[in-house]
Amino acid sequence: MFKKYDFLIVGSGLFGAVFAQQMTKFGKKCLVIEKRSHIGGNIYCEFKEGINIHKYGPHIFHTSNKEIWDYVNSFVEFNNFTYSPLAHYKGELYNLPFNMNTFYQLWKIKNPQEVITKIQDQIIKSGITCPENFEEQAISMVGTDIYETFIKGYTEKQWGRKATELPKFIIKRLPVRFTFDNNYFNDRYQGIPIGGYNKLIEGLLQGIEVRTDIDFFKNRHEFQNIAERIVYTGKLDEFYDYKFGYLQYRSLRFEHEYINLPNYQGVAAINFTEFDIPYTRIIEHKHFEYGKQKGTVITKEYPQEWVPGAEAYYPINDRYNTEKLNKYNELVKIEDKVIFGGRLAEYKYYDMHQVIASALSKAKKMMELNHGLIR
Ligand code: FAD
Ligand code: UDP
Repeated sequence: MFKKYDFLIVGSGLFGAVFAQQMTKFGKKCLVIEKRSHIGGNIYCEFKEGINIHKYGPHIFHTSNKEIWDYVNSFVEFNNFTYSPLAHYKGELYNLPFNMNTFYQLWKIKNPQEVITKIQDQIIKSGITCPENFEEQAISMVGTDIYETFIKGYTEKQWGRKATELPKFIIKRLPVRFTFDNNYFNDRYQGIPIGGYNKLIEGLLQGIEVRTDIDFFKNRHEFQNIAERIVYTGKLDEFYDYKFGYLQYRSLRFEHEYINLPNYQGVAAINFTEFDIPYTRIIEHKHFEYGKQKGTVITKEYPQEWVPGAEAYYPINDRYNTEKLNKYNELVKIEDKVIFGGRLAEYKYYDMHQVIASALSKAKKMMELNHGLIR
């Protein structure tokens, strides 16, 4: 039967937008549907008081992949922002990520070799030789002082679980350096789109049919029949009607506030690493774009467990959820008309550049399939 579209793309976040852009360029007809009232998924910004507000949490683009950097820059130019958040612990401020500035502020040690020896001593004392969970991994990277001050409290409120129950890979994201360098990322390229992330998404989706305020599940039967294939970027468990039960997510509550001051905290982000302070960070959005507006907007980020109806922000890739995920992925394997992609559908703690890489690679596979290069 003739289908009106080649691809129905469910979700207008980065995965959906990149996939749609690639297939449209390849000559395919795409329809993007989005259940929110705006495009862009979690990178969407709201423009208020002359400032781009990162509505779903602070986003800094970073990658070491030149192809991906050139790809995003072909839609919008990026500024030279470097993420250097601070940590707030018991009334004091420290530099992040963990580097000589942090070590000096904590211990007043100026010499990198002395710092290395101090951390090594703490690791040996901990008795951890082969880390098996988040806590052990963190201690074996930075020792016990840094762990107790900057990691344990932040992590346990962020994830709502004990650090001993979380996977190791989460902490491996953070650099540890023995130089005085406050750059939060090790990647070669970094920045914020000039004029905001919406420019990136609008560039990707230019000329493509997009319908907002449309939930795939409200009309699933009809949508399944209007395109040759479906590209699904929503929650994986929802696609299968939760038949193996809920995958767990961490959600967030954002408290935005306008302040009639040109500069509230002097930096884009301060992490509050004590467990007792209920929010994890305060974001001051104008600093991502070196804003000179008269006022400022700050956002406090409160972590919470995902419940039906809330936004699912972070997949929790622990043992319990991995077992469930494996069951869902068995169903994914036998779908031949549905492509699953992105943070929610792949249930992976992806950064933006990784989502783009995944979308480019799946689009490439589709093109090869079309040319009869693969089966
Ligand atoms: P999403 O952006 O979630 O898009 C999925 C879209 O699908 C959504 O718009 C959703 O509404 C829509 N949808 C879902 N179900 C349906 C349905 N049934 N019908 C129709 N539409 C549907 N990455 C970085 O690289 N740097 C950072 O600094 C960074 N900071 C982050 C901070 C926070 C707080 C969070 C949560 C993430 C951060 N990320 C960061 C990760 C980044 O947000 C993601 O990698 C990326 O935006 C995911 O894109 P996506 O398309 O997979 O998913
Ligand atoms: N983390 C921490 N203290 C900090 C910053 C990060 O303990 O000040 C830990 C925490 O477990 C967090 C993880 O490192 O979830 C990854 O941090 P990242 O900044 O990459 O988190 P995201 O921006 O994705 O929320």
